Amino acid sequence: MELLIEKIKNEGCVLSSSILKVDSFLNHQIDPHLMLEIGKEFAERFADSGITKILTIESSGIAPAVMAGLHLQVPVVFARKRKSLTLVNDLITASVHSFTKEETNEISISNKYLSENDKVLIIDDFLANGQAALGLIEIAIKAKASVEGIGIVIEKGFQEGGRILRNKGYRVESLAILNSLENGIVSFEKSTERKAELA
Ligand code: 5GP
Repeated sequence: MELLIEKIKNEGCVLSSSILKVDSFLNHQIDPHLMLEIGKEFAERFADSGITKILTIESSGIAPAVMAGLHLQVPVVFARKRKSLTLVNDLITASVHSFTKEETNEISISNKYLSENDKVLIIDDFLANGQAALGLIEIAIKAKASVEGIGIVIEKGFQEGGRILRNKGYRVESLAILNSLENGIVSFEKSTERKAELA
């Protein structure tokens, strides 16, 4: 996705050989136009999957997920990381270790919003070791919903999440795949850049 790749090139900040900061358009300030395009791209890639619901995790998955929901015309549910006073009964939970925060959270959704009839598209901002996606898959499985695919805005291809999820048979669509963040330089996987050039 050309627009996303340009944004990463121009505004991404390499914090270490494993962390990319994109606070100016995705993780703190949000670029609505870019989010709309990201949502459209996910919707096109999963157009034939019969998606009935999008599942994401707070907070940075919400913006791209809502835009994908808008384009696919389906509701979006986000898993909460913190206990909520208004969300206490009939929870579906999973345990997720956060790569960036180095802590484990119990994530949860209400069982009201996911059922065995749902065909789920999981969306998240980053894919690193796959823990967030695996937690969301666990929630979908507990609700007896089917997981039709996983849409990721930025996949760090040098970490194991993509391989783990694809080896389990899940369809993972990442809009930008990074090869490396070594020496402060963002390097993209060739296929991602080629797709952006062709677009
Ligand atoms: P995973 O669960 O795949 O190990 O990590 C994905 C989650 O960690 C995402 O939800 C994202 O919030 C966060 N994350 C992982 N790597 C990065 C990164 O390089 N930059 C940012 N901003 N967030 C990341």
